[in-house]
Amino acid sequence: MNKNCIFCKIAIIKAASNKIYEDENVFSIRDINPQAPVHILIIPKKHISWPNVNPEDEYIFGHIQIIALKMAKQFYEMKNGFRIIGNCGVDGGQTIFHIHYHLLGGRLFTWPPG
Ligand code: 5GP
Ligand code: ZN
Repeated sequence: MNKNCIFCKIAIIKAASNKIYEDENVFSIRDINPQAPVHILIIPKKHISWPNVNPEDEYIFGHIQIIALKMAKQFYEMKNGFRIIGNCGVDGGQTIFHIHYHLLGGRLFTWPPG
């Protein structure tokens, strides 16, 4: 828990009405500033901040991938595919320095990303 971190704060709000998924290790919320018709954040409850990632966190990262893939199935808008993105560090475009992944769908994405 980092007391200055918005994702740590949301993680401990048990009754946060905008959580669309939650388990012991991760939770999901809709992005406040969506970049696609579906834009979901998948966030570990533990405050992990790159480059301080430890081998003991391996389970959490694998778990997040599974949750993202399962969640993509739930949204009709993702039937033609989707994108999972993790912005990392300033050059990676990260703005909240508590590791998280974006699940985006419902439109066509280009490559390479901007
Ligand atoms: P990053 O830029 O670090 O990869 O992603 C942070 C994301 O969190 C951004 O897409 C931003 O719109 C979103 N975000 C920032 N503050 C909040 C918030 O208070 N609630 C929600 N649901 N999303 C937020
Ligand atoms: Zn945090």
